[in-house]
Amino acid sequence: MYTISNHKIYSMSQNHKPVFTVHDGDEIVFETRDCFDNQLTSSDQTMDQLDWEHINPAIGPVFIEGAASNDTLKVSILDIQVESYGIMVAVPDNGVLGKLVKTSEVRKIPIVDGYAVFREDLKIPCKPMIGVIGVAPPKGEIPCGTPGEHGGNMDNGKIAAGAALYLPIFHDGAMLAMGDVHAAMGDGEIMVSGIEVPAKIKVKIEVIKGISISAPMLEDADYCYTIASHEDLEKAIFQAASMMNEILMDKLHLSFNEAGMLLSAVGNLEFCQVVDPKRTVRMAVPRTLLKTLF
Ligand code: CA
Ligand code: ZN
Repeated sequence: MYTISNHKIYSMSQNHKPVFTVHDGDEIVFETRDCFDNQLTSSDQTMDQLDWEHINPAIGPVFIEGAASNDTLKVSILDIQVESYGIMVAVPDNGVLGKLVKTSEVRKIPIVDGYAVFREDLKIPCKPMIGVIGVAPPKGEIPCGTPGEHGGNMDNGKIAAGAALYLPIFHDGAMLAMGDVHAAMGDGEIMVSGIEVPAKIKVKIEVIKGISISAPMLEDADYCYTIASHEDLEKAIFQAASMMNEILMDKLHLSFNEAGMLLSAVGNLEFCQVVDPKRTVRMAVPRTLLKTLF
């Protein structure tokens, strides 16, 4: 078992040096920092104490032996253990309600026995999920705060224990990194923070040879998902729906129209987040109808 901690990156890029090399089938623990790089630890702190150069660190990258461009990376999320407190913030001009926020605020939220104690009478069941997870993008350097075809800051509440995430591979070794765990986050992430927590994420890595995908996809116990990110929410929706339509045509031997009707009858279009530099949505189809994506 490999454990990786302390090796932070603030962008995803093929130019980063890998921390180490793992192999197909290996299990790895990523010890991640929260999206503020653990700088906020008390409700008495203010946002201007924050060093904005150190936001959204991911831990990694790891080089996966045998992973080559045009293969697909399967990351099975085995377990997510969160720290005993989380941080939330409200910041003027940030998020869906940002223009109504008058002053910024930091809130430390104790996490006790699987609940985030927002107030003594408002206990939120923890549903830990990974906000940032991805590989080196096709070209350039993409800040960890931005989602895209390489994964990144998708803030997808379904990237949780028990799910398998599929990522396209653009470069040898894939260069997997992750961070930004939330103890809980509602779809949309309205105020731009989930309950931000340091965490220990245990994953299993597999390389699917000879299968190429153009964007991240996900399977959990109940659904298969396509995931799309775009500056324009409508375009993200179109991409997620058309990718799933194609999968339904292929796997279930349906015409374009039939696949679309099936999507219309049972497919759920869901928000991941609507507040990051690109918006992320997912299109879900029950596994009772589509057993598997591949
Ligand atoms: Ca995030
Ligand atoms: Zn976050």
